[in-house]
Amino acid sequence: MKLQGTAKVNEAGHLTIGGCDAVELVQKHGSPLYVMDETFLREKCKAYYDAFSASGAGEVIYASKAFMNMAMCRVIEQEGLGLDVVSGGELYTARRAGFPMEKVYFHGNNKTDSELKQAIEYGIGHIVVDNHYEMDRLNALAEQAGTTVNVLLRITPGIECHTHEFIRTGQIDSKFGFPLPTGQAMEAVKAVVSCSNLKYDGLHCHIGSQIFELESFRFAAEVMMNFIEEIQKQTGAVTTVLNLGGGFGIRYTEADEPADINDYARTVLSTVQSEAEKRNLTVPRVVVEPGRSIAGPVGTTLYTVGSVKEIHGVRKYVAVDGGMNDNPRPALYGSRYEAMLANKATEANEEVVSITGKCCESGDMLIWDVSLPKVKSGDILAVSSTGAYNYTMSMNYNRIGRPAVVFVRDGQSAVVVERESYDDLIRNDRIPPYLQR
Ligand SMILES: *Cc1c(COP(=O)(O)O)cnc(C)c1O
Repeated sequence: MKLQGTAKVNEAGHLTIGGCDAVELVQKHGSPLYVMDETFLREKCKAYYDAFSASGAGEVIYASKAFMNMAMCRVIEQEGLGLDVVSGGELYTARRAGFPMEKVYFHGNNKTDSELKQAIEYGIGHIVVDNHYEMDRLNALAEQAGTTVNVLLRITPGIECHTHEFIRTGQIDSKFGFPLPTGQAMEAVKAVVSCSNLKYDGLHCHIGSQIFELESFRFAAEVMMNFIEEIQKQTGAVTTVLNLGGGFGIRYTEADEPADINDYARTVLSTVQSEAEKRNLTVPRVVVEPGRSIAGPVGTTLYTVGSVKEIHGVRKYVAVDGGMNDNPRPALYGSRYEAMLANKATEANEEVVSITGKCCESGDMLIWDVSLPKVKSGDILAVSSTGAYNYTMSMNYNRIGRPAVVFVRDGQSAVVVERESYDDLIRNDRIPPYLQR
């Protein structure tokens, strides 16, 4: 496992993150535990801010579905980024954290009336309209509220990316957005400019996730700029915002080679700039929505090893006290992770084992075939790059409570989400009168 961010190994031979000994973190906060390296998180935010926002050409909106809670909203706000939310729950969390609503974008392919009303009431910056049903209702709700809502239109540009098909959203056979190649996107622009209570600001596209080829982003920017020219010709509408979504890839295993954020920024900003000049258009403000590439590398999950089972001649199963409950990605997508023993960080790898969880489900595997030092019950296993789509995708299957989340920094740890207790698990259970005794 490659040490990232502030991760180091101390004199005791233990992994440390943010100056905190991983073994002590588990003693103090329990196991499993999500550990977020706050210094590294802020570095990631700053790298995005400097690359896109500092020049005034762009704006960075953190995709909160990757990892969200009220403390995270505070950090994102302090680092000068905006927020992309996809549900009333995320929007509510942002609001309760006091996040500036004008910097929030609301996404989703099936926003409910109550979510749209909530967004209008909060005075949200932008709503990214996904379909005609939403456009009509949003216009009506804005009219009822006596206000005008700034909107972007979500466009499906028809670009295929080299990534897992479950997380590929740019091709036209997608549940998201108005398809561009079929002419439906242009129809949508014509419809939105005639809506009395919607203000057309621009377009959005998101071509997928965990993308490594900068060429995909360059191509998306080019396709969208071509469309912006067509819009201006056919409707006269000026597009002031071009939101190119998220999707920038990260390192999960040593085989992953993500590009540099500065190269990514240069690629999209220069493409938009040169395409605008070529077509004689006003240069739109470029918005990007990184989620995984901000939160992902920053997180490490710590587990305690329990049973170790060797099937002679087949494999050795090492079971930890978490699993698909706190990280469903291997089960959902076949995602690969790397790991180390946090209490044996200086010991050489000695055996190849497979890490399994504690769920009653044979698909509950965290890592197949990982090299580790000799593993014993009670060891602390650290799995890296779990900051994105782990905590936010976690679940209570088998009535297992979600782990706590801590931020670590300069030798201090702070709980930002409490561990779920058994009482939390039964909090919404009700025994109806006819079942009472
Ligand atoms: C998921 C998503 C993102 C973030 O994607 P990452 O791969 O985490 O960077 C951004 N925008 C939209 C619309 C999304 O659905």
